[in-house]
Amino acid sequence: MKSTTPPNITRHIRQLIAKVVPGGKADYLTIHPEADAVVNECFPNVAAKIARAGGRMLCGWQIWEWPHVMVEAEFHAVWVSPEGQQVDITPKPHGEATILFVPDARRTYSGVVIDNVRLPVRDDLLVRHFIKASEAIVQVMNRGERAAQYGHISVPAHEIEPLMMAQGFLGQSISSGLRDHDPCLCGRGSKYKRCHGPGFEALFSK
Ligand SMILES: [Zn+2]
Repeated sequence: MKSTTPPNITRHIRQLIAKVVPGGKADYLTIHPEADAVVNECFPNVAAKIARAGGRMLCGWQIWEWPHVMVEAEFHAVWVSPEGQQVDITPKPHGEATILFVPDARRTYSGVVIDNVRLPVRDDLLVRHFIKASEAIVQVMNRGERAAQYGHISVPAHEIEPLMMAQGFLGQSISSGLRDHDPCLCGRGSKYKRCHGPGFEALFSK
């Protein structure tokens, strides 16, 4: 995947913002990673910063864009300094220097996993299936009593592996520039929608 901070607030990004925070407003924030902050661990990172320096936690949504494929909102926390400045102290996997952030005053961090909200930016079965695979993986990871676990979660292989393989297959197809009417990535020669597509559709509907 090639997701990064969107350089512009496009029509699809406005649609995504309206979906996660009706009437919400996005702003670009500079990232100042704390020395001991961990990638993807914004909530503990901000809690540790507050313990050292005061201020407060602000929850909201970080907006990601996979250009020409999809836009995605990730539940996220930033630090608000005692002077009231919003700062993202969590380092990013690909070293982005800014984030696009929508504060969400209705929400606080409760420890419960909140899945990303994803919108396709083109009408293509591969992209819709990639989003379904991503959603199904989070649902399986949080099924039943797993929802209360944090950190390493043990999930039976037969539940998670077919979904991970599908997500990988779809991600690779999209990254290779394939569309749903192109020959399927597997090389058997038929279009995705007639080859791997129906099997994946059944898998995601389980
Ligand atoms: Zn195939």
